[in-house]
Amino acid sequence: MAAGRVTAWLSRRAGLGRGSMIGGRVALALDPRALRRLGRERTVVLVTGTNGKTTTSLMLTRALEALAEVAANSDGANMPDGVLAALAARPGAPYAVLEVDETYVPWVAGQLNPAVLVLLNLSRDQLDRVGEVRAMERDLRAAIAGHPETTIVANCDDVLVTSAAIDAPKLVWVGAGRRWTGDSTACPRCDGRIETGKDHWSCACGLARPEPAWTVDGDLVRTPGGRQVDLDLRLPGAANRANAAFALAAAHRLGVPPHTAAARLRTITDIGGRYRTVRRSRHSVRLMLAKNPAGWGETLRVLDEDTPVVVAVNAQEADGRDLSWLWDVHFERLRGRQVVVTGERGADLSVRLCYAEVAHWAEPDPVAAIDALPPGGVELVANYTAFRDLVGRLSGA
Ligand SMILES: [Zn+2]
Repeated sequence: MAAGRVTAWLSRRAGLGRGSMIGGRVALALDPRALRRLGRERTVVLVTGTNGKTTTSLMLTRALEALAEVAANSDGANMPDGVLAALAARPGAPYAVLEVDETYVPWVAGQLNPAVLVLLNLSRDQLDRVGEVRAMERDLRAAIAGHPETTIVANCDDVLVTSAAIDAPKLVWVGAGRRWTGDSTACPRCDGRIETGKDHWSCACGLARPEPAWTVDGDLVRTPGGRQVDLDLRLPGAANRANAAFALAAAHRLGVPPHTAAARLRTITDIGGRYRTVRRSRHSVRLMLAKNPAGWGETLRVLDEDTPVVVAVNAQEADGRDLSWLWDVHFERLRGRQVVVTGERGADLSVRLCYAEVAHWAEPDPVAAIDALPPGGVELVANYTAFRDLVGRLSGA
């Protein structure tokens, strides 16, 4: 751990970043059991899924802070080295809320033996980085089978999540709503066709939507006791209300009453810069991040209808080099609005928007794209590195 801390310090001094990743990596290389040791005697919650990990983890952290100190990787460093760095930073915290990349859940759960595992959703992500979503479901199912003592808080509206979780002995189902169905037309157990209706899905093999203990209904969350909690979040959109329901359910499992938790969730106004509005000379720009088709779908849904939109797409390593996902996003939703495309792969995006019949113009530089719009509000949606670079530039401005 000392070697890790020194490396983290050197990394910060050299201006390479905050150092949590590299510090954790050094500690794990020197002692592969470091994670197990740091997690011992704490109540650990792991949060995983394709979308909403960072938001849900932050919400749950805020809720559990009603009980005691919480160690958390709120910077989104969700691989083993980032998880380890979060635990090392708060050695005395009795609780840990850790966002974990789906791929690493089996290994991290093996080390930390979590009290609760929150399973938000599973959908296609960058294929060149993450792999095939149904293989992910099988790996998670196996990991869950290996932890019968862990309470699984899972999304019963997600077919793949349900299949992964349904055999667990301790289960809390959350009805988070069904918006992205692109990865669940066929049953993960038998390849049969999934029949869907309102608040219902099922396959002929018997796999079907379980009855949820927690449900989201507009701005209300219904608890297992039949009570209603008004969310009144500062974060926009149905996806964030669903994230809040997961946070309430997991916090409730660990002893935080839903009304107490909900009040604490209202203190969250942005997630690492996301949803924040920044001033840029004549414009106020609301910053939004989207990383995969389901995430883009949710984000396009929360855009203000009368405000111009800047859409920025890069395809660096961290974004995924493969841009075929552009064709899975329902960009048709942008028709009739003022749209500017930008980012390193703005030309690819432009082609997609032409097929979607969305009138737009292109401006390679994202900041120039904002400046080119008439004064007033701007909705900015960007994928990972495009978002990171823009936040850096706009904060410096
Ligand atoms: Zn089936």
